[in-house]
Amino acid sequence: MARIHNTAKSTLALRQRKRFLLSQLKVYPDSLRASLVERFSRCGKPNCRCHHRGDKHGPFYYLTQCLALGKVNKFLLKEDAQQQTARSAIQHYRQFQEHLEELSQINAQLLRRGEPLDND
Ligand SMILES: [Zn+2]
Repeated sequence: MARIHNTAKSTLALRQRKRFLLSQLKVYPDSLRASLVERFSRCGKPNCRCHHRGDKHGPFYYLTQCLALGKVNKFLLKEDAQQQTARSAIQHYRQFQEHLEELSQINAQLLRRGEPLDND
């Protein structure tokens, strides 16, 4: 679901915002569309504290990536370095996606006003 951006501005203001967005749009080489989820879990040993009101094990960090309805790519990130890499890569993807989405909404508004879209 896209965030709704305010496009009830003057055409000049929309064009300025568009120029700014275009200057910010950058595809980072590490772009990653995924989520990092934190999990705590019980282990397989019946006598372990985690089965008797003790704290569960964790946190464990999983990278999850929805590929299609009901099809998820999910795996454990064991190393701190992997988790840091994932956080940064996910952030880069989301930042790009948000800027592109806002650009798209501005373009829809400009089109509605009969304005050209290809000059900035
Ligand atoms: Zn345990």
